[in-house]
Amino acid sequence: MKKSTIKKYARLIVRVGANVQKGQSVTVSCSTNQADFCALVVDECYKAGAKYVTVDWYNDRITKLDYRNQSVRTLSKVLEWQEAKMKWNAEELPCRIAIISDDPDGMKGVDPVKVQKAQVARAKVMKPYRDAMNAKYQWTIAAVPGEAWAKKVFPGLRKSQAVEKLWQAILESVYVTDDNDPIAVWEKVNADFKERCRHLNEYRFETLHYTSSNGTDFTVWLMPRSNWCGGGEYDLNGHYFNPNMPTIEVFTTPMKGKAEGKLVSTKPLSYRGQLIENFSLTFKGGKVVNCEAEKNQKVLEEMIKTDEGACMIGEVALVPQDSPISNQGILYYETLFDENASCHVALGEGYVDCIEGYETMTKEELHELGVNDSMIHVDFMVGAKDLKIVGKTFDGKEVTIFRDGNFAI
Ligand code: ZN
Ligand code: ZN
Repeated sequence: MKKSTIKKYARLIVRVGANVQKGQSVTVSCSTNQADFCALVVDECYKAGAKYVTVDWYNDRITKLDYRNQSVRTLSKVLEWQEAKMKWNAEELPCRIAIISDDPDGMKGVDPVKVQKAQVARAKVMKPYRDAMNAKYQWTIAAVPGEAWAKKVFPGLRKSQAVEKLWQAILESVYVTDDNDPIAVWEKVNADFKERCRHLNEYRFETLHYTSSNGTDFTVWLMPRSNWCGGGEYDLNGHYFNPNMPTIEVFTTPMKGKAEGKLVSTKPLSYRGQLIENFSLTFKGGKVVNCEAEKNQKVLEEMIKTDEGACMIGEVALVPQDSPISNQGILYYETLFDENASCHVALGEGYVDCIEGYETMTKEELHELGVNDSMIHVDFMVGAKDLKIVGKTFDGKEVTIFRDGNFAI
């Protein structure tokens, strides 16, 4: 991959993804394996006028060693300086850029119960800070190819070829070519999203009914104030940013506690470095009452047990089968990409910013209204070639939204 093209990508992440403003602080999280790319991102942050950039480094292999060798008690503890850092984040509100590149199977062999226990304990301490920061800062997630990840996606290729191929696929998905101006392309993409959401919001759907031949037969309820969102968004300080690069989905926040029927997954799900495959979830009264997985059922069960809201839905998203990432025909084993190649649903926390008028409401009011709350937000893919989604509006009209996996409206 050309250096100048990779540099252009780093600039896109900073200018369009996080949209770093003059005088802002930035926190970048990145694997030590991607230090060169991270340096390009940090350079672009300073060029955009950042006053201070800090990098949270991590390394998959070391994380795995920590999980293997530390006790649950040690793993669960948030140290004083770690909490102080979180407090600083909540006050300073730095832009956050996450550069992901991890092996989707990188935590294979680590006890999922141990991981779950430790992460829940830590998340509990961190949650008040996260809530205090919610919707107040710009953030973005973007990917660069790690070697293990590339080999997982393209197992038949040599390591270097696989990495190159994954670079091509990633850059194509975010509209970066050797000779274009991707920032201009994203302006057009965001304008298209705005139009698509406006169109969907005019209907005011109360329910969505999903059916496909794989066994999916599922109904979810929306709220009168659930807005469809997609592409870029504004934080509460009025800064525009693109939280995911790439992004194809339009999504909304459903009514918690109101979902019935069965959803069958159509792609594997990498959750905390472990792959859950061929699974289905059955809902009653809005909650998962049964889950089955051919691989890593235990991981799935632990995930659903995380907290009270983890068994309920926080997001429904529409992605046509005929769309740029889906048409690549690549299984990325990474939600950032796979969720943009398929209709998906998320268990856990709902997006408050999909609610009309959320700016003037408290967290409690939003939860009262029906936005789900949880420490997790995990998307899983349910899109299929024959997926049909029929919406019913609040005034009782039935509208076919999706037919044969694509938009019908
Ligand atoms: Zn989504
Ligand atoms: Zn999601």
